[in-house]
Amino acid sequence: MSETSQNNSFGQVFTVMSGKGGVGKSTVAANIAAGLASMGYRTGLMDVDLHGPSIPKMLGIEGEFIHGQNGKILPLQVNENLKALSIGLMMENRDEAVIWRGPLMHNAIKEFIQEVNWGELDYFIVDSPPGTGDVHLSLSQFLPKESSAIMITTPQDVSVADVKKSISFCKAAHVPVTGIIENMSGFKCPHCSEIIDIFSKGGGESLSRTLDIPFLGRIPMDRAICEMGDNGSTMAGSEDPHIKQIISDIITKLIRKEN
Ligand code: ADP
Repeated sequence: MSETSQNNSFGQVFTVMSGKGGVGKSTVAANIAAGLASMGYRTGLMDVDLHGPSIPKMLGIEGEFIHGQNGKILPLQVNENLKALSIGLMMENRDEAVIWRGPLMHNAIKEFIQEVNWGELDYFIVDSPPGTGDVHLSLSQFLPKESSAIMITTPQDVSVADVKKSISFCKAAHVPVTGIIENMSGFKCPHCSEIIDIFSKGGGESLSRTLDIPFLGRIPMDRAICEMGDNGSTMAGSEDPHIKQIISDIITKLIRKEN
């Protein structure tokens, strides 16, 4: 059990990372968290992609605000088993840019972890910004020591090259990498459901072999997944059994790895 403050117990902590933006990091973080919650696990999702918080939209909680109680911030209770926190749930005007200087960012991360009443969790999923920077350094300081990372890449060499840098950061920061997920791995034709490899294929899987890091699965580029992100629904609740299966297979591997 991982603890960082008196009242919080975080369970297993996974920071979702990518080398580049736009590769589906927030999509995967939101879907893993919602999927774990739908399986009955008490799950927290912390969005520290401070410049581009997408989690409120992806979870269908845009327009909601977090509140405080007894001097502590309460995360938003999304459903029975899922709590979420995002800077997007604290802003009056969500279209306005927030200018984060280094020390402010560092304090925000500290407070998100230590001053928020997360309570007792089985899983804590962190949606981090792309690349490796101040936020990742702060996370490595304030998250429980047992935390690990999940890397998201698309199949192309340019994304794989950048995710290698994130893996090397984790090595330097002594954060184990639990696995790699290849997102946008082939395009699922909405007419015939055939998978077309428009971006090449297998970059994430071959990296996982080269670096001897477990491969957690591939997610095709599917218009339905994009629409879910836009309308605040998640893969675990999808009526499409294939989409449901993709995320459930990834979560099963994550749970197994931990046992
Ligand atoms: P990141 O967090 O890496 O910046 P996002 O998760 O915000 O990326 O995804 C960027 C966009 O791509 C979003 O509109 C999202 O809905 C879409 N997207 C992500 N993964 C997929 C996928 N497998 N199929 C279709 N659209 C996807």
